[in-house]
Amino acid sequence: MARPGTDNKGSCLLCLKAVKWIPVLFIVTIVAWSYYAYVVQLCLITVENTLGQVFYLIFFHLFFFMLCWSYGQTIFTDIGKVPSTFKISDADFEAYLHHNNSLEMQNRILENYAKTLPVTNVTIGGSVRFCDKCKTIKPDRAHHCSVCGECVLKMDHHCPWINNCVCFTNYKFFVLFLGYALLYCIFICLTSLPYFIAFWKGDLRGMGRFHILFLFFVAIMFGVSLMSLFGYHCYLVLENRTTLGT
Ligand SMILES: [Zn+2]
Ligand SMILES: [Zn+2]
Repeated sequence: MARPGTDNKGSCLLCLKAVKWIPVLFIVTIVAWSYYAYVVQLCLITVENTLGQVFYLIFFHLFFFMLCWSYGQTIFTDIGKVPSTFKISDADFEAYLHHNNSLEMQNRILENYAKTLPVTNVTIGGSVRFCDKCKTIKPDRAHHCSVCGECVLKMDHHCPWINNCVCFTNYKFFVLFLGYALLYCIFICLTSLPYFIAFWKGDLRGMGRFHILFLFFVAIMFGVSLMSLFGYHCYLVLENRTTLGT
């Protein structure tokens, strides 16, 4: 039988896991609505020229597909976990804790392990980088993520919009996602601009015109933020750096 409180703790953890998906759900809802507003309200109802409709729909679906694919890959790619060879034994961890008032003794235990491992980075104090939560020596550029609850290889940052860490395994997909999302926004802005102007001139009729109006605003808003974020990550790639500065 479960101990009293165990069930409560389990359901709390489940609630917390569900809450972490809210930002992802928000993005998915916006993208789904933008699909409806662009395809149905703009292309099928508002655009009258068939050639224009075909051109808009083909390119829109290309960007839409690439955006969804890269977003899915960024979310569902497993984080880069530290190999088990970096973990220290339970006996050595006990000894490490036992010497908690002697940094020198602790470092001696860790150095014994680190000499066989491909690590070059040390702490500011010159000691081997170690995570006592994961009981592991940190490989260069690995950091402990408090949200994921473990050490992550080449950690860039934990992103709530993908409910995952941006790290060694999914960084390429993350940068692609920013790039495709930016192209998606630019394409929507450019192609809906004539209808946005027509709205203010009073040439558009029906409730659907408000979808086109908001679509333009949302695409501009996301486009501007994506441009700075994508530009920043291109700079980081060129400099071989991460958001955390390593
Ligand atoms: Zn850790
Ligand atoms: Zn994380």
